[in-house]
Amino acid sequence: MARVYVAYTGGTIGMARTADGYAPQPGYLAELMGAMPELRSPQMPDYTVHEYATLLDSANMTPAHWLGIAHDIAAHYDDYDGFVVLHGTDTMAYTASALPFMLEGLAKPVVLTGSQIPLCEIRSDARANLINALLIAGAGEIPEVCLCFGDKLLRGCRSQKVAADGLSAFESPNFPPLGRLGITIEVADELVRPRAVSGLSVQALVNPPVAVLRLFPGITADLVRHLTQPPLRGLVLETYGVGNGPGDDADFIAALTEATARGVVIVACTQCVRGSVDLGAYRAGSALAHAGVLSGHDMTTEAALAKMFYLFSRGLAVDEIRRLVELDLRGELTAG
Ligand code: ASP
Repeated sequence: MARVYVAYTGGTIGMARTADGYAPQPGYLAELMGAMPELRSPQMPDYTVHEYATLLDSANMTPAHWLGIAHDIAAHYDDYDGFVVLHGTDTMAYTASALPFMLEGLAKPVVLTGSQIPLCEIRSDARANLINALLIAGAGEIPEVCLCFGDKLLRGCRSQKVAADGLSAFESPNFPPLGRLGITIEVADELVRPRAVSGLSVQALVNPPVAVLRLFPGITADLVRHLTQPPLRGLVLETYGVGNGPGDDADFIAALTEATARGVVIVACTQCVRGSVDLGAYRAGSALAHAGVLSGHDMTTEAALAKMFYLFSRGLAVDEIRRLVELDLRGELTAG
């Protein structure tokens, strides 16, 4: 029988009703799962739940928590066929984007899931999400970090939370789902990345100073200058459309140029839900490229940020980081 390790980090899925609203309660999720007869079905994998000492609302997650999850998976890697990470939905896409970079040589499934409604409620989406995640992790067929939610199985580093209240809360706008969870679980085998053979190792994150800046009409050069002061090392710039910005504002472009000349790595993503950056398509984008801004292609902001954390944590030279940030390392972008 397949064995699955369940890392329970917190989130709505295991919360209980309290006088102050839903809140995590130690032991409660394991108790609810223990009372689910479907989890004892012979079709289900054997599982172990490891509840974290502090159950988090995922709004409180930091890169240090991502590292804790990565180390937890690595510590149990040889004893299990797959891993489920129970996580709050608010920052699940960030964790799902960071883990693929940290888990070098991953050859087993790591499936993140959670729910919009706690498991204790009658209309909860937790039951189906949990069962699907356990089945996918136990099957061992997808040696990737993925996110299982509602009717979709997504590549983790392509995922985004798209609905604050709907039950189909996640999508991967620039990459097809790895699987569809309908009457049967249909995996798109041709999209699944090849199984690594190198053995698992964890790339630690050191929380380098990086940031995200969304362009908006009226953004000033001063704001860019303030943000890009040392110690900032990397910036994900959410640009308009195919990678455009206020290229006619010479001072704004000068502020970007000063930053990149000092070694700040600036990578452009698009503010659009779908599509890719092409800095050469318009003069308003070429101006950014001339200022030293790099193309994030079709990476999500979540993936670009996680990649910055990862690349700076490896202690690489700036030129090497500039080269790697534009390349596909974990299936996070479609190089054009
Ligand atoms: N605020 C919660 C969290 O992200 C929401 C959820 O779990 O859905 O932990």
